[in-house]
Amino acid sequence: MIISTLGSHSSLQILHGAKKEGFTTSVITDKNRENFYKRFNFIDEVRSYNSLDEALDLINKNNEESVFIPHGSLIEYLGMERVKRIKTPIFGNRNLFEWEANQHKKMSLLKMAKIKIPESFESPEDVDRLVIVKLPGAKGGKGYFIAKNKEEVKEGLNKLLEAKLIKSIDEVIIQEYVLGIPIYFHFFYSPIFKRVEITGMDIRYETNVDGLRRLPTNLISVEPTFVVAGNIPVIARESILPRAFEYAENFVNTVKENVPLGMIGPFCLESIVTDNLDIVVFEFSGRIVAGTNLYIEGSPYSWLYWDEPMSVGRRIAREIKIAKLENKLGEVTT
Ligand code: AMP
Repeated sequence: MIISTLGSHSSLQILHGAKKEGFTTSVITDKNRENFYKRFNFIDEVRSYNSLDEALDLINKNNEESVFIPHGSLIEYLGMERVKRIKTPIFGNRNLFEWEANQHKKMSLLKMAKIKIPESFESPEDVDRLVIVKLPGAKGGKGYFIAKNKEEVKEGLNKLLEAKLIKSIDEVIIQEYVLGIPIYFHFFYSPIFKRVEITGMDIRYETNVDGLRRLPTNLISVEPTFVVAGNIPVIARESILPRAFEYAENFVNTVKENVPLGMIGPFCLESIVTDNLDIVVFEFSGRIVAGTNLYIEGSPYSWLYWDEPMSVGRRIAREIKIAKLENKLGEVTT
């Protein structure tokens, strides 16, 4: 059986884990990166494309039973229309993609799960506090800005429209800026074991908001930006974990009720932890996040379940392996 994925994001981790679990591995990559992926001996097959339509053909062309693993770059690279035309079984719930792509639907799912979320503002006119304005899709924070009042929101939106970063202001989400520290909680829902596992945590290292604190504030007057350039590991105070689990389990139950087939596999609750140790979730990812690349040897949390090196990539492959043995592949793929 073949496990394949698109060459980007967390594909090395995914294929490394798949190999460890005994699968044949295949990467589908832009021609320019072909030599890069050929360097790794855990990748059995490197298939390259010159156009995105060709990438879709390669994903759909499989001569053996195979499972395709989606990750954060899939929709960014291929676009939703092509992703909808993927015929190969996907690990995870493909019906969740649309919820994730729409900022408003995304936040509504968190709200339905009774997870604490930042206040959001429908119109710039309603803004009455410090806000962060966010663009759609996983663009790694590009174009985001902070505004202190409605005038600054309008000004910033006009700049985004002029720069053609957005077509209409309905595409953005205007969210209360929550003061605290970011922690991104990585989870895995196993339909086979019927349990939520915590697989790790990370902090996104963002330029230049993280760089600004290196200089005294009286030296500079630069607006913070939120372009992700890396990830930093973190572990949380144990007393935060019960709430994080409560949120994760609520989320899994809500997805089950609202998005047919429910949560399958990795997801992430992107949060700010405030000074009274509240967890405020400002976004979720319904698939593997790049912050899991920190833990190819397993995280301090994955050891609690497995007592062996267990990356999220390997955990995905383990779930597929057990599902196949138990004739339950239909429960983990869509
Ligand atoms: P996102 O693309 O939603 O993951 O956001 C990118 C970055 O913006 C995060 O890593 C945070 O640093 C910051 N951020 C996003 N939403 C909020 C919020 N509501 N309050 C404070 N910071 C936020």
